[in-house]
Amino acid sequence: MQTIYICPKCKAPLVIEERCARCAAGHSYDRAKEGYYNLLLTNVGGTHGDNKEMILSRRAFLDAGYYAPLSDALNEAVLRTLPKGGAVLDGGAGEGYYTGRLAEALEKAERAAEIYSFDISKEAVRRLAKRRGDLHPAVAGVYDMPVASGSVDALLNFFAPFAREECLRVLKKGGRLFMAVPEREHLYGLKRVLYESPYYNEVSEEIPDGFSLEESVEIREEIEITEPSHIRALFEMTPYAYRTGKKGRDALLALSSLKTPIHFRLFLYKKI
Ligand SMILES: [Zn+2]
Repeated sequence: MQTIYICPKCKAPLVIEERCARCAAGHSYDRAKEGYYNLLLTNVGGTHGDNKEMILSRRAFLDAGYYAPLSDALNEAVLRTLPKGGAVLDGGAGEGYYTGRLAEALEKAERAAEIYSFDISKEAVRRLAKRRGDLHPAVAGVYDMPVASGSVDALLNFFAPFAREECLRVLKKGGRLFMAVPEREHLYGLKRVLYESPYYNEVSEEIPDGFSLEESVEIREEIEITEPSHIRALFEMTPYAYRTGKKGRDALLALSSLKTPIHFRLFLYKKI
């Protein structure tokens, strides 16, 4: 089977066989029992990316649907712009919440597409592979993508580090980058509990070199979380989990419900 993945060692195309992916030079990568390929050369015994607790928290929170408006906005934008049979790549897919829902939306609209998804965390990819084994799950990093140059029509960058040059390299000319960022009021209700003087987020409107801005979609809703385990999960998946003192943390975890805006911006950039 053909794939946009390339050999991380020699950059030659990979061919997917039954139990492994292999390049012409004979480098081969075993298929894990969950159905993903480990294409990360440096991952020898170490742990990259998010840990198991963070992944489980994030999955519980996302699967409860609180961020569905962002996911819906992405799906709508991809449906509107993806060429027939186009290649979609989610670099930093986590456990596959956004990519999985995108695949469902494309299927529902009977739109042919080939979706590839990778993440640097093996724990996350294991769950991604169980959720959607058909989305070519792989362990890989965004700074050295095992992906052929000029092979991608739609590239997702959802809360993953942004490696501009790699993104430009893998995209086709005219291909699109879908980038989600937290907007000004995102999680302000959460921050009000955590901090005495909460602050708004700053959003950069700077267009990355090599791209033109095609669209920018604002997503803002009020959510109410009435399940304490979801409040904890939300907290654990934000950077505030590292930055908050005991007082703020205790106050938040004692709540039985939390109201907060969710506020994102989805940028659609086109490779020029
Ligand atoms: Zn090779």
